[in-house]
Amino acid sequence: MDSSCRIEFDVIVIGGGVMGSSTAYQTAKRGQKTLLLEQFDFLHHRGSSHGESRGMRATYKKDYYTKMAVESSKLWREAESEAGYSVYTDTDHLDMGPGGSASLKAVIANCDKNSFPYQILDHGQFADKFSGKLSIPEDWIAVYTELGGVIKPTKAVSMFQALAFQKGAVLRDNMEVKEIRRDEVKGGIVVCTTRGDKFWCRKCVVTAGAWTRKLVRSIAGFELPIQPVHATVCYWKIKEGHEEKYAIGGNFPTFIGYGDVGVYGTPSLEFPGLIKITLHDGCQCDPDRRQWRPELELDSLKEWIKGRFLGLVDGCAPVSMQTCMYSMTPDEDYVIDFLGGEFREDVVIGGGFSGHGFKMAPAVGKILADLALTGHADGVELEHFRIGRFEENPK
Ligand SMILES: Cc1cc2nc3c(=O)[nH]c(=O)nc-3n(C[C@H](O)[C@H](O)[C@H](O)COP(=O)(O)OP(=O)(O)OC[C@H]3O[C@@H](n4cnc5c(N)ncnc54)[C@H](O)[C@@H]3O)c2cc1C
Repeated sequence: MDSSCRIEFDVIVIGGGVMGSSTAYQTAKRGQKTLLLEQFDFLHHRGSSHGESRGMRATYKKDYYTKMAVESSKLWREAESEAGYSVYTDTDHLDMGPGGSASLKAVIANCDKNSFPYQILDHGQFADKFSGKLSIPEDWIAVYTELGGVIKPTKAVSMFQALAFQKGAVLRDNMEVKEIRRDEVKGGIVVCTTRGDKFWCRKCVVTAGAWTRKLVRSIAGFELPIQPVHATVCYWKIKEGHEEKYAIGGNFPTFIGYGDVGVYGTPSLEFPGLIKITLHDGCQCDPDRRQWRPELELDSLKEWIKGRFLGLVDGCAPVSMQTCMYSMTPDEDYVIDFLGGEFREDVVIGGGFSGHGFKMAPAVGKILADLALTGHADGVELEHFRIGRFEENPK
């Protein structure tokens, strides 16, 4: 072993967002001596896993995500019962859009393929179900399913970290990893931080969120096309007396709007009297040089809301806006793979979650742990997530 290494681990996980924390929980649970390293304070607000709400759904255009979401919803419940508290509240879920929308058609075809139960609502049925709350144009339809819900992100990350710790993992924050290299003497991997710490492990998992591209470039010398994007979340004021209609625990679902603008939202939960409705959009950014100001095409969002939400304060601007980062891949599929090259199967990457990863964190953590510990993940179609799908990549 590199004689300057202070401590040996079975697995080192780099990045303490939801993916890294869920992976550390999985490896520690399997009796592996695990170290979780985070560059900032744990539960910081500079990455992708902070805040108050993330939507759950299983309605996807691509079928492999439906299976993953169903599995993940069960794993959320398992982790909650181990922790003894809840981070995920059930709701129904609604996808709405023009009747001819290719996205909506793909969602429906995928539900059929997976035998995933759904209901199609035409304009009239929609009006009956959401009377006084929501309205859609006459040529729109909706797909209604029972698997939706809201996950509390910061609380969920903290839950995975607490569970990992309880199972013996070592958790260290303010530890920026600057180098990962092979131990030429003993084999295995040496992980070095900017503070001068060196750790040895058999297997390493990199879950660095929007920093994945930078880290992979510096450790392996190639470019993974994972683009950090600065995203803004908006909260809107509900008219006085209408709060109950949109509150979680009533019948109001999580939702996505397909059409000219991509919109999503969750029932009112984190800020009573406010509802989250925002665009699935953002602008490219450097995770180390953020501008922090909210940036969003508000006019199109206001227009979208005006025609659909019947109980919001008219003509208002968002009451609160928060920023976050997506890590986008060109095809919006995740990257879950071995780093390869000199690292062969000893370093596993989980990144590029493209703005739709949070709900899947328990399943992704399990897959990353499986890959690191056994070299394979049974029942998972990994070809969609392979690094090799990016043509320019040498792997
Ligand atoms: C506005 C917004 C809304 C979203 N809504 C949804 C939703 O409704 N449903 C859903 O499923 N998903 C949603 N997502 C996506 C989801 O939040 C992300 O996919 C998920 O949080 C990604 O987690 P991560 O662990 O990969 O990244 P992160 O949370 O960013 O974690 C990566 C961690 O690695 C650390 N790190 C990086 N480099 C180093 C290094 N060199 N050394 C040590 N540590 C390092 C970082 O500091 C960071 O803490 C949303 C995202 C945003 C931004």
